[in-house]
Amino acid sequence: MSSAPQDLSKYRNIGIMAHIDAGKTTTSERILYYTGRSHKLGEVHEGTATMDWMVQEQERGITITSAATTTFWKDYRINLIDTPGHVDFTVEVERSLRVLDGAIAVFDAANGVEPQSETVWRQADRYHVPRIAFLNKMDKVGADPEMCINSMREKLNANVAFAQIPMGVESAFTGVIDLIEMQAYVWLTEDKDAAPKVTEIPKQYLDDAHIYRQELIENLADFDDTLAEAVLSDSKVTADQIKNALRKSVIEIKIIPIFLGSSFRNKGIQPLLDAVIHFLPSPLDIPPVEGTEVEGIVAAGKRSPTPEESFSGIVFKIMSDPFVGALFFMRIYSGTIKTGDAVLNTLKNKKERITKILRMHANDREELQFASAGEIVAVVGLKFATTGDTLCDIKDPIAYESMKFPDPVISLA
Ligand code: GDP
Repeated sequence: MSSAPQDLSKYRNIGIMAHIDAGKTTTSERILYYTGRSHKLGEVHEGTATMDWMVQEQERGITITSAATTTFWKDYRINLIDTPGHVDFTVEVERSLRVLDGAIAVFDAANGVEPQSETVWRQADRYHVPRIAFLNKMDKVGADPEMCINSMREKLNANVAFAQIPMGVESAFTGVIDLIEMQAYVWLTEDKDAAPKVTEIPKQYLDDAHIYRQELIENLADFDDTLAEAVLSDSKVTADQIKNALRKSVIEIKIIPIFLGSSFRNKGIQPLLDAVIHFLPSPLDIPPVEGTEVEGIVAAGKRSPTPEESFSGIVFKIMSDPFVGALFFMRIYSGTIKTGDAVLNTLKNKKERITKILRMHANDREELQFASAGEIVAVVGLKFATTGDTLCDIKDPIAYESMKFPDPVISLA
């Protein structure tokens, strides 16, 4: 049982959104690998370092589920929420986008923006999901970051900027240059366990690095006074100044920074994880969610994302589990729940009891005594809830808009 207080500023509730085949599965697997969790568990479970939902995806060839998995990177908790990529599952995409604080948008570096990426992108705009972009498959024949950035500008109408530039493309792709810290990450092998070597920028890339860094700074200067002053006075801009401006601009969805790699060749994932913790928001950076009026039951209102606030959350996924029956994945927006608590299911106007609170890891689960605002948990014991339902404090009810979607139950067995 775990019940230590949580530092929410070190939480990242993120999803990975992508066109089918762009490399979402490989990128997710590598993220789990490098965050250590699946590696460790994989050893225990004889090398099965994949999440249950990934096995399903691999078998079916498309992405269909929306579970959440918790993992760690450098002291930060990353809750990875599966965002289906297939166009038929748009409803599921919308449902999971709603509970995310940020996303990694994965693109195939040789294809740029593909039709379905546009749909998911617009959905993410609609739910105000801050994003960073990952151009995957930099090793592939035809990989072309300039083509990608242009297609993102044209087709997504996105304000995008390189945060990295590549060292070589296609089979010569060996590393990335970080335009913020002005250093290079070089992968000497494709070994999964190999950490990138951090080096000075090789001479032949220096001019390009300065040009693209300046482009990033000028783009950010439109949204950040400190950088604007530095640009006007031609003074030196520090890495910290860029980082601060970029974090703010990503959270406000003013800019989408681009990172590069090849998940298949184990390149680019560690710096991508650093970008997740540096630039994507924590639950505390997100504005309060607004409740809507449900006639005769509850008035409109707002809840701040703190543990002390009245409890509220949204059920975004139900999965059947061989051990405990139905698992209700919930994003907690405000307050705290304890095992045994009675809560109100506002949209069904029913009282529900939470008999267990679980945090799901790649191949494991952890039972919690309580969970608070900002967290993603799976709860057990609900009788009436369907996806999209609001659960809240009986004495202080609120209703978040019902998603009113069909409700498939997917087996974890
Ligand atoms: P998803 O459909 O978005 O989940 O994509 P997958 O992760 O299943 O990858 C789709 C295909 O692209 C698979 O055949 C992968 O082996 C391949 N792939 C994934 N990442 C890379 C990469 O970095 N480079 C290359 N060349 N192929 C990749």
